[in-house]
Amino acid sequence: MDCLFCKMVKGEIPCTKVYEDDKVLAFEDINPAAPVHVLIIPKEHYDNVGDDVPQEVLGYLLQTVKKIAEIKEIDKSGYRVSINTGSDGGQTVNHLHLHVNGGAPLYCGSLVI
Ligand code: AMP
Ligand code: ZN
Repeated sequence: MDCLFCKMVKGEIPCTKVYEDDKVLAFEDINPAAPVHVLIIPKEHYDNVGDDVPQEVLGYLLQTVKKIAEIKEIDKSGYRVSINTGSDGGQTVNHLHLHVNGGAPLYCGSLVI
C-alpha cells in the first residue's frame, strides 16, 4: 500500500521522532499549525477513526497523548487533540493520526488547524 505514514513506520521516509514503541509512532508535523504540533499514529494501518479500529488501539493512542504532552512540556499549559476524518474533516493523509497541538493559546482563530 502506498501510504506515507506506513513508510515512516518502516523507516523508508524520514521523520522527526518524538516517541516510539511497538504500537505507536509520534513525530513532528512537517507543517506545524502551533508551536507544538505532534502527530501520533498506530503502527498498524487504519484509514481513519471510522475504519473499525479496535478499542485497544484507540485507547492506546489516547494514552500516548499524555506521554507526548509531558515530553513536549505542554502537560501543564494544556493542548488540543484532534482527529481529522474524511474530506469534510480535512483529512489529507489516509492513515489514522491524532494531532496534538499546544505551546500557545489555541483560540478559534489563526492557530486552529
Ligand atoms: P490531516 O490533514 O489531518 O490528514 O493531517 C496530515 C498532517 O500530516 C498534516 O498536518 C501535514 O502537515 C502532515 N504531514 C504531511 N506529510 C508529512 C511528513 N512527511 N512529515 C510530517 N508530517 C507530515
Ligand atoms: Zn498507512
